[in-house]
Amino acid sequence: MRLMLLGPPGAGKGTQAESISKQFNIPHISTGDIFRQNIKNGTELGHKAQEFMNKGLLVPDELVVDLVKDRLSQEDCQNGFLIDGFPRTIPQADALDRELNNMGINLDRVINIQVDREILIERAVGRRVCKQCGAAYHIKFNPPKAEGICDKCGGELEQRKDDLEATVAKRIEVYLEQTEPLIAYYSRKGIIQNIDGTQEIKTVFNSILEGLRG
Ligand code: ADP
Ligand code: AMP
Repeated sequence: MRLMLLGPPGAGKGTQAESISKQFNIPHISTGDIFRQNIKNGTELGHKAQEFMNKGLLVPDELVVDLVKDRLSQEDCQNGFLIDGFPRTIPQADALDRELNNMGINLDRVINIQVDREILIERAVGRRVCKQCGAAYHIKFNPPKAEGICDKCGGELEQRKDDLEATVAKRIEVYLEQTEPLIAYYSRKGIIQNIDGTQEIKTVFNSILEGLRG
């Protein structure tokens, strides 16, 4: 299964990706996670990306595209993958199209998670992520068992630097300008599946599974 998750920041892409990737035994490829890992490891890419991320801006296309190409060529992507957070611009989508063509494969489905702006802000501002394993929680909607501690690995939870309200607002603006046009792009290819992302986490997951079966 070759899948892509589309949707504004805070829509629940990462949350659903965890369940989808387990369900179909496919790797979850999140460009945001890759950048955060690079920042944590102090790499040059991380250093460059951080500057844009902290302002709520997109990292330039040329820093993202090759990274995804490399990742898709790895062994664990042979039987499928779930891309999350990429593409975010039309040039990125075109580059992905060319790469998949070269590889002789197609995307099966683009899952578009739809959530209104006010909810997005509340979700992103209340998000807490594990410093150690990256798992995401929400202080109100998906709290960990013990406050501030990751259920999965016991790591400490923190707020992402780009989850401050003003930065989230900027990210939503950037999404509407540069990423939302991808809905029409993939609709034209006939592979979009629209999902109401305002439902509970489990209900969203069930809607995704239902859509994939249909
Ligand atoms: P994205 O990857 O699209 O930016 P996340 O999956 O990290 O979004 O979700 C953003 C925040 O909203 C997280 O704190 C997450 O726990 C919470 N969340 C995700 N899905 C839902 C949902 N269906 N209902 C309520 N909160 C949710
Ligand atoms: P995410 O974890 O998907 O919310 O991404 C966090 C941030 O990483 C974004 O706000 C961008 O700054 C950057 N980023 C992630 N993926 C991309 C991409 N495909 N193109 C450009 N920037 C990206």
